[in-house]
Amino acid sequence: IIEATNVSKWYGAFRALTDVNITVSKSERIVICGPSGSGKSTLIRCFNRLEAHQEGEIAINGIRLHNRMRNVTEVRKNVGMVFQHFNLFPHMTVLMNCMAGPMWINGVPEAEAKKIALKFLERVRIPDQANKYPAQLSGGQQQRVAIARSLCMEPAVMLFDEPTSALDPEMVSEVLETMTSLAREGMTMVCVTHEMGFARAVADRVIFMDCGRIVEEGNPDDFFGNPKHDRTKLFLSQIL
Ligand code: ATP
Ligand code: MG
Repeated sequence: IIEATNVSKWYGAFRALTDVNITVSKSERIVICGPSGSGKSTLIRCFNRLEAHQEGEIAINGIRLHNRMRNVTEVRKNVGMVFQHFNLFPHMTVLMNCMAGPMWINGVPEAEAKKIALKFLERVRIPDQANKYPAQLSGGQQQRVAIARSLCMEPAVMLFDEPTSALDPEMVSEVLETMTSLAREGMTMVCVTHEMGFARAVADRVIFMDCGRIVEEGNPDDFFGNPKHDRTKLFLSQIL
């Protein structure tokens, strides 16, 4: 679903990514971790073209991302993204937040879009909040709406950028449970998170980044049980 080869990215003169290689297959669940500023967000933002890379190749579902592409929308339809700060539309109800993509981007009729929205709000277990506005919900509920909103586009892959790090501790588990159940259903997922319990339970592969590079990757047992690089060991000792 995602194929990234020797990807490098600069912000002006600053090199944020260096020769990153990642392949994500259908139904694979990847967790990316690493210190602040290591390029985790930059990398996954390149996957839906919120950022442009300068060197290397990225292909999403076979569509190559490049500077002169006209079908960015086509790519974004395939790539759902959930952010740390929810990024819901504040002036729309929960239901409308979920209907907007199907209606305005996919051209689905209103009645059909409503059905889709309710189906996925049920999926994240908050159909009863459909007519509220985001500000009337708890952080955990807002994040579940954000997940439902992405799912309404039926993406081929879901990207999560620290989806629980802005939440109060008691709300973290409801969002992780939603993510875990998505994983169990076979959703292809790339999750930037420091929730290592989630990584152990769900990830097929854990990737550690530092200074814009992938330093180490492996299945959770090897990664946590037997990290090879000193930087990985140091990082794990700080967060576990
Ligand atoms: P965090 O854990 O804090 O979210 P991260 O691993 O997601 O960190 P990125 O946000 O990808 O890190 O940033 C990687 C580097 O690129 C950082 O040094 C950051 O300051 C820089 N950077 C990110 N966005 C921009 C931007 N729009 N313009 C210039 N520099 C940027
Ligand atoms: Mg980040």
